[in-house]
Amino acid sequence: MWTWQAPVADLQHLLTQVLDAPARWAAQPAFAELDADTANEVLAQAGRFATEVLAPINASGDAQGCRWNPDGVTTPDGYRAAYQAFVAGGWPSLAIAPEHGGQGLPQALNTALFEMLAGANHGWTMYPGLLHGACEVVMHHGVDALRERYLAKLVSGEWLGTMALTEPQAGSDLGAVRTKAEPEGGVAAANGVPVRVSGHKIFISGGEQDLTDNIVHLVLCRLPGAAPGSKGLSLALVPKVLPDGARNTVFCDGIEHKLGIHGSATCQLRFDQAQGWLIGEPHRGLAAMFLMMNAARLHVAVQGVGHLDAALQNASAYALERQQMRAAQRPPGLDGGAAATRGNADPIAWHPAVRRALLTLRARTDACRTIALWTALWLDEAEHHPDAAHRAAAAGHVALLTPVAKSLFTELGHRSASEALQVFGGYGYTRDYGIEQTLRDSRIAMIYEGSNEIQAIDLVQRKLLDDGGARAQALMAVLAEDAARCAALPALQDFAQALSAQLAAWQGALAQLRAGRADDADYPLRVADDMLAGVGHVLLCWAWARSALSASDPARASAAGRPAADWLASARFGLQWLLPQAQVHWERVAAREAVLPWLAD
Ligand SMILES: Cc1cc2nc3c(=O)[nH]c(=O)nc-3n(C[C@H](O)[C@H](O)[C@H](O)COP(=O)(O)OP(=O)(O)OC[C@H]3O[C@@H](n4cnc5c(N)ncnc54)[C@H](O)[C@@H]3O)c2cc1C
Repeated sequence: MWTWQAPVADLQHLLTQVLDAPARWAAQPAFAELDADTANEVLAQAGRFATEVLAPINASGDAQGCRWNPDGVTTPDGYRAAYQAFVAGGWPSLAIAPEHGGQGLPQALNTALFEMLAGANHGWTMYPGLLHGACEVVMHHGVDALRERYLAKLVSGEWLGTMALTEPQAGSDLGAVRTKAEPEGGVAAANGVPVRVSGHKIFISGGEQDLTDNIVHLVLCRLPGAAPGSKGLSLALVPKVLPDGARNTVFCDGIEHKLGIHGSATCQLRFDQAQGWLIGEPHRGLAAMFLMMNAARLHVAVQGVGHLDAALQNASAYALERQQMRAAQRPPGLDGGAAATRGNADPIAWHPAVRRALLTLRARTDACRTIALWTALWLDEAEHHPDAAHRAAAAGHVALLTPVAKSLFTELGHRSASEALQVFGGYGYTRDYGIEQTLRDSRIAMIYEGSNEIQAIDLVQRKLLDDGGARAQALMAVLAEDAARCAALPALQDFAQALSAQLAAWQGALAQLRAGRADDADYPLRVADDMLAGVGHVLLCWAWARSALSASDPARASAAGRPAADWLASARFGLQWLLPQAQVHWERVAAREAVLPWLAD
């Protein structure tokens, strides 16, 4: 049986003891009232919701899936009640500003919430997954009339939103979008004007569902006479139900039959002269949409962490139960104990290969979770810190960290699900234990919200090269502070050296990229995936160092949860067994002369 418990104690420990979140919140007037106890209580309640309401309908929702008929989509049993509980609990508005009807809590808590939701039930989490982004778009780009009509219902979660970008011919290349928006009555296009929207969208998550009475579609479209490509794109708000209660001419022509997240309706939508309103300036649709996409990318990143955590929990539980052969060594303190007398075999968790697999999952989960929460702390400071220079620096960190987090965590989430499945042997390949669902569900996160290859190109071109390396230098300086803190402690010399070496490798790779692209424009694109993975390993190394720092400080021990020695062991395992992989990526970046032969037709 698939099993999952919200990792509340670990999230609390990382935020309060490792990342010093309460002190950072205290420096921001928006969160000055938020203390560690309140934050811990929010996490505990979120964990209860995820464990008690969502996890129990994860396997059943996968087995049942969504059902389509011409009038709509029926989500799996229990989804609607779970969504009502989610709304009643006030979760949709957690990180929305109080002036817009939200609770004004930090993104860091929202990020932790969404990691737990995704860990418990990725399919269900797709429905509220875009809500925060939709609220941001309406808040920042909607004219007053649209804000008055839609914002409160989105903030409360009474209505859900979609992000309608993809078309059959327009996937990664949104410049190929063809959906049309024609201003009504021949008026000039401007923010808020009514438009008629026509076109086909595919793969739209939650494009139709039975959780909410109305759905607010944010549709990427093209006005008459717009420039070709992405510079000619506009954004329209198109509701399923119009303000007078009439059904708009938006139709769900079918849903996809897909590898995983069966509980999430992935819809083909047809807009047939549908009534909508422009949101944001004409031809600036992509810029408006980016607000939604950045928030969504961090949510997708933590889907990877949720899957990592679910893989770890399930594989660990199984490996302690399943007995095969005698292990050469037993855990210290267990010789002659109760576990040693169970039949002729030992738990597979005692075999070094399995222990190593479990520790790999543990070290990755700890580090990715740390980086995700850290990114969210910067996201809050980019918006709320009183010092403008600090806000700008924080925004730079977020811009660089987001594509790395999205790609790294989703890749590790899926790879770890496969490694966890291996721990189950043949039972993993069957449906008996549900780890195969984690493997299937986790795969999509590497594809949507900008595929991982597109994230790597964004990182290399926009975040590392176009600004002359300024963002990279700023982030490296912050990471170097923790290397120095490790260097000051005799017991953490290995962390200090490893982090310093990784920062030097990043510097070297950056110099290679800059020098190499002058006479070979293709080179940064050839090595973009390795550059992202290399930077990802720098961050993993930093996260393990940071965890080791807090584990070495008795004042930072958490009352509940894992002991400091356990955090330190996980961090050191990461350093010794997982970090060497970074070298492969740095070497590939350095191999400028490596050619990519053309494939034969
Ligand atoms: C379950 C699911 C839910 C989704 N939800 C939504 C949603 O809610 N809203 C929405 O608008 N869309 C959604 N999508 C669509 C998703 O965002 C796209 O599938 C994704 O952006 C990739 O586009 P594509 O499938 O057309 O692949 P393509 O763009 O055709 O890419 C195919 C492959 O080529 C690679 N590639 C393409 N161009 C480049 C390049 N320049 N350099 C390097 N590699 C490249 C890609 O990385 C990918 O591996 C969803 C998709 C799925 C399957």
